[in-house]
Amino acid sequence: MERAILHADMDAFYAAIEQRDRPELRGRPVIVGGTPEGRGVVSTASYEARRFGVHSAMPAVTAVRLCPDGVFLPPDMRRYRAVSQQIFEIFRSYTPLVEGLSSDEAFLDVTGSQRLFGDAVTIAGRIRVEVREKTQLTVSIGVAPNKLLAKIGSDLDKPDGLTVIPTERVAAILRDLPASRIPGLGRRVQERLGSAGIRTIGQLAALPCRTLEEWFGDFGSTLYRLSRGQDERPVDPGRERKSISAETTFARDERDLDELERRLLSFSHELTFSLRSEKLLAKTVTLKLRDPQFRTRTRSHTLDQATDGAREVFETAQRLLSGLAIRGGVRLIGIGLSQLRPAEGGRQLSLLEDRTKDRDATAALDGIRARFGKGAILPARLVEPGAAESERPATE
Ligand SMILES: [Mg+2]
Repeated sequence: MERAILHADMDAFYAAIEQRDRPELRGRPVIVGGTPEGRGVVSTASYEARRFGVHSAMPAVTAVRLCPDGVFLPPDMRRYRAVSQQIFEIFRSYTPLVEGLSSDEAFLDVTGSQRLFGDAVTIAGRIRVEVREKTQLTVSIGVAPNKLLAKIGSDLDKPDGLTVIPTERVAAILRDLPASRIPGLGRRVQERLGSAGIRTIGQLAALPCRTLEEWFGDFGSTLYRLSRGQDERPVDPGRERKSISAETTFARDERDLDELERRLLSFSHELTFSLRSEKLLAKTVTLKLRDPQFRTRTRSHTLDQATDGAREVFETAQRLLSGLAIRGGVRLIGIGLSQLRPAEGGRQLSLLEDRTKDRDATAALDGIRARFGKGAILPARLVEPGAAESERPATE
């Protein structure tokens, strides 16, 4: 039986959430990530900003030049994650076979769901309506017999698009698309193809498999199949995230230890909130610092036992920071959590914290405040334990 795969991808996710929540930003070029002073990197640009050529992963300094009237906003990951949970709940109500690629993007295998909910196109339509009703946001969906084509499809009619690529139309649809539309082509591969004059997927598909193998080794035969729209990879709901991280670029190089630790604390809450939401634990904590000369230093510590506790992550990061000189100033600071594993069967700090939720959270904060003395580094507006708890999924 032919498979029915959807690729669902929210439109300009972070920027769309900002425009939803702040009506005065609608219709304006919104750029999430990066500062108006040109620090940091763009994480999402609204469609208004994209018209100026701004896109994600672009250095903010370039975005400012292209779009001087852009509204630059710092990312509010906590709010975005809450929406992410909402959309994944919708996805999972149609099939258990949901493979998340990021906070706003997933593959869904709905082959077995069609008896219950209607054919794949109907299911995609229902998901789009439900996402719009529950989040006031739009999602673009590609419907196809495999992951490759579903992913290409979701991108063809953005924003708010629904694109179906049936088997009999695969060759016609792929033929004139740029080869770069094939997901996962590295820069080296793209350059090699470019230098051989290969621009479209159709041109790529015309090459003998042997040529591609000569150019790219094993990847050549994969590319040969992909260029024909062939992709047998299953949708894998168990695909584990390898790491999560949060980082910030300062508006001015930072030399104040209190301020650096305050950021670490904020990241610790943000990241462990995310771990708990996804029922994961992390074993390795990595601190990342970049100095004004763009030199990046990282220090890691592997815990005896994996954790999802903000306090443990913070204290580990704090210790790592204490081993590094910051006198020259810090341009960027971040925390990464890796060696992630499912929380089931492991130690779950969150359960412990849950039981005595408010008291424990407050105690932890008080303890940290106490160590830092007066002029505490933890104003309530930063930590917002109440806010974080209320965003816990209903299942907890
Ligand atoms: Mg998206």
